[in-house]
Amino acid sequence: METKTPQKQNKQPGIEAKMNPRPEYIKATYKAAGKLTGKTALITGGDSGIGRAVSVHYAKEGADIAIVYLDEDVDAIETREIVLSFGRKCLLIKGDVKKSSFCKKAVEQVVKEFGKLNILVNNAGIQVPEKDPKEIDEKQLEDTFKTNIFAYFHFAKAALAHMQEGDTIINTTSVTAYRSSPNLIDYSSTKGAITSFTRSLATNLTEKKIRVNAVAPGPVWTPLIVSTFDEEKIKKFGSETAMKRAGQPSELAPAYVFLASDDASFITGQVIHVNGGEVVNG
Ligand code: NAD
Repeated sequence: METKTPQKQNKQPGIEAKMNPRPEYIKATYKAAGKLTGKTALITGGDSGIGRAVSVHYAKEGADIAIVYLDEDVDAIETREIVLSFGRKCLLIKGDVKKSSFCKKAVEQVVKEFGKLNILVNNAGIQVPEKDPKEIDEKQLEDTFKTNIFAYFHFAKAALAHMQEGDTIINTTSVTAYRSSPNLIDYSSTKGAITSFTRSLATNLTEKKIRVNAVAPGPVWTPLIVSTFDEEKIKKFGSETAMKRAGQPSELAPAYVFLASDDASFITGQVIHVNGGEVVNG
């Protein structure tokens, strides 16, 4: 568990810190309204991309933040600085969400540090593009499922031991769960599982008054994209949306704020599609 700035020599490079142009994590015009005052949020993959934007917006809305990340110390430290600049606390928890014991320990660390956990954002994810389904080996398949859906389950299970009426879980699924993605077969399968997981967990938890929802991003300019797609694909990234562009993390995070806040008190088991205008079912 990492609560202090990692030693300089141990710092793993952050991909976001090197991106050109840098992703926008919050709009200069964003106006907070104390929607999450007094809440504690745990955001997996909260160091960069969409997770960073969610961490920053939640902090600006008044929540204390715990960020789980794999090894990108530079990105995590940068995000923590932004959270701290809004006067909120920020706990960095470094580790591998593929391990169920780590997921459980991370939740316990948050509760020990902040005394509670109100909002869980399951967001960490990986993708490995592959044209030929025959080339998707067992390791890739297992890593993708362990990271993208098993971990969501482990975190939810651990968090539910501490959550109370009014608390919420928000999962990051993807537009690829709703339409085909020929080169991301394993990845899009996990995203379909996340959508089903969201719906079933939501209906299971209605009596406990814990809401569970998801956000389905379309193409968003984040480290995941520059670290997994080739140059050609990166150049055209987002051009197939109705808006003919990729989104910025700053355009995703407000949906996570809405779902976490009391404004969404009658919404559970649903998915908000933030995808530049692609009409999808469900
Ligand atoms: P990102 O690379 O910035 O975030 C991914 C995060 O996952 C990283 O912070 C990383 O630390 C974390 N992570 C990965 N493997 C991990 C592991 N084993 N243990 C702990 N942490 C791990 O990229 P992003 O685009 O912001 O991705 C966030 C979510 O959004 C993912 O679930 C992704 O599938 C989803 N998504 C992204 C897009 C897009 O176009 N960027 C589109 C649809 C859905």
